Amino acid sequence: MQGNLWKVVAGTTKRNLKYNQRIITLLQGRAYSTTHDADIVVIGSGPGGYVAAIKAAQLGMKYLFPFQTVCIEKNPTLGGTCLNVGCIPSKALLNNSHYYHMAHSGDLASRGIEVSGVTLNLVSLMGQKEKAVKALTGGIVQLFKKNKVTLVNGHGKITGVNQVTALKEDGSTEVVNTKNILIATGSEVTPFPGIEVDEEQIVSSTGALSLKEVPKRLIVIGAGVIGVELGSVWSRLGSEVTAVEFMPSIGGIGIDGEVAKTFQRILQKQGLNFKLSTKVTGATKEGGVIKVNIEDAKDSEKKETCEVLLVCVGRRPYTHNLGLEELGIEKDQRGRIPVNSVFQTVIPNIYAIGDCIHGPMLAHKAEDEGIVCVEGILGGPVHIDYNCVPSVIYTHPEVGWVGKSEEDLKSEGVEYKVGKFPFAANSRAKTNNETDGFVKVLADKATDRILGTHIIGPSAGELINEAVLAQEYGASSEDVGRVCHAHPTCAEALREANVASYFGKPINF
Ligand SMILES: Cc1cc2nc3c(=O)[nH]c(=O)nc-3n(C[C@H](O)[C@H](O)[C@H](O)COP(=O)(O)OP(=O)(O)OC[C@H]3O[C@@H](n4cnc5c(N)ncnc54)[C@H](O)[C@@H]3O)c2cc1C
Repeated sequence: MQGNLWKVVAGTTKRNLKYNQRIITLLQGRAYSTTHDADIVVIGSGPGGYVAAIKAAQLGMKYLFPFQTVCIEKNPTLGGTCLNVGCIPSKALLNNSHYYHMAHSGDLASRGIEVSGVTLNLVSLMGQKEKAVKALTGGIVQLFKKNKVTLVNGHGKITGVNQVTALKEDGSTEVVNTKNILIATGSEVTPFPGIEVDEEQIVSSTGALSLKEVPKRLIVIGAGVIGVELGSVWSRLGSEVTAVEFMPSIGGIGIDGEVAKTFQRILQKQGLNFKLSTKVTGATKEGGVIKVNIEDAKDSEKKETCEVLLVCVGRRPYTHNLGLEELGIEKDQRGRIPVNSVFQTVIPNIYAIGDCIHGPMLAHKAEDEGIVCVEGILGGPVHIDYNCVPSVIYTHPEVGWVGKSEEDLKSEGVEYKVGKFPFAANSRAKTNNETDGFVKVLADKATDRILGTHIIGPSAGELINEAVLAQEYGASSEDVGRVCHAHPTCAEALREANVASYFGKPINF
């Protein structure tokens, strides 16, 4: 029957659309109201899925109604982890807790702005976060309308090589017959064995974005990106925060060792405590507090007490009840969906992108994969240089990096040179009284090609994009060092680090 369907599609013109539509309905033998026919069905509307759906529609998978782009989402709001319980709400809290901290800690006073009676209205702070989330998730609904992406609410399950069935909350189903399927179902919080999250006292990142009061003491299991971001939020708002980390350094995978050390020192100065090379072995609720068992590298055990325990040990792919097993799509040991270089699973018309496949779990990585995957389906080239995917930690100061760290280059035996420039010598950082941190550029010793850029300092999350662009286009440190940069800007520190790499020394330090 599927073959007949596509023969009908091939002959479709605007004039005979209605006629063909009737034939298709007859061929399917299903009630029209519960059936769609699509060029592509995207399962999941996170940054991977919604961007892929818009791109597919923009590339023409929409005009031959009823052949179109369909996106199936099980949550009542669009945007996935990123917009609902990830990037966006965490950055709203990071931004506003920073303002509170500036007012409360005397930072504003040191700038001649004296404020008294500074108090925290946590309800309003959360309200601003929710407003941002609502505006952005609602924005995707508008983008779908504008680009003619058909949204189907429900849990999508692949019920055939060319079919996805959406199970709705009321128990009804909606079947979509489709040429291509794109899985963008994302990830979920990794549970900690033996510690049950209740999202009130023992919370995951999701609960930590909506605590109803500032806990006196907060213990964070894991000092990776999300752990230090959310730890910073609650520390600024008044909690005594201790992050317990199994690894000997903070900041997660890929961070340059020198940056990680500086980062830890700065955060400690801000009041965060770290217990590194230390593991949590269990936790129990006792009389309104949580007793956390901690074991350090020397195997000595200790109990620490807190009002809230934040479990932040990572995320795992979410592929629950997707129908993969029935189709013979086997997951790898980490639960990820294996795909080839054009994002095809073992079934050629079923693709997967984002957090549910290999690679860093980042929103912009998912977006880029969504775009090139769809372009590839339509015959375009598919290429992502994962070495040019940046990472950012949105603390204060921010940390951003792209490419290789010094540790990577040493282990790969690559000969490199280092260009460094401190923000203490950057005029804009100085005028803004934000001089913590530095820029470090790593370039190939023989060719001068930039291999990695590491920034800890003001607006590192914005500055890193210039380094990404340079690296993506194979620039040398001389190239960036010779490009005119506006003055006074923090970006001049990036230029100076490149100047230091190429000429051996910067101008202003
Ligand atoms: C606290 C926190 C902060 C973060 N901060 C950042 C940051 O600053 N920058 C950054 O780049 N990344 C950040 N991330 C990571 C980022 O959120 C993820 O990498 C990104 O959301 C992955 O996108 P995705 O589209 O692959 O999946 P997701 O965003 O997880 O979206 C998947 C969507 O699929 C839906 N879905 C799943 N299964 C089905 C089904 N069967 N049927 C229908 N719908 C389904 C889900 O409901 C969800 O909406 C953060 C994450 C967290 C938790």
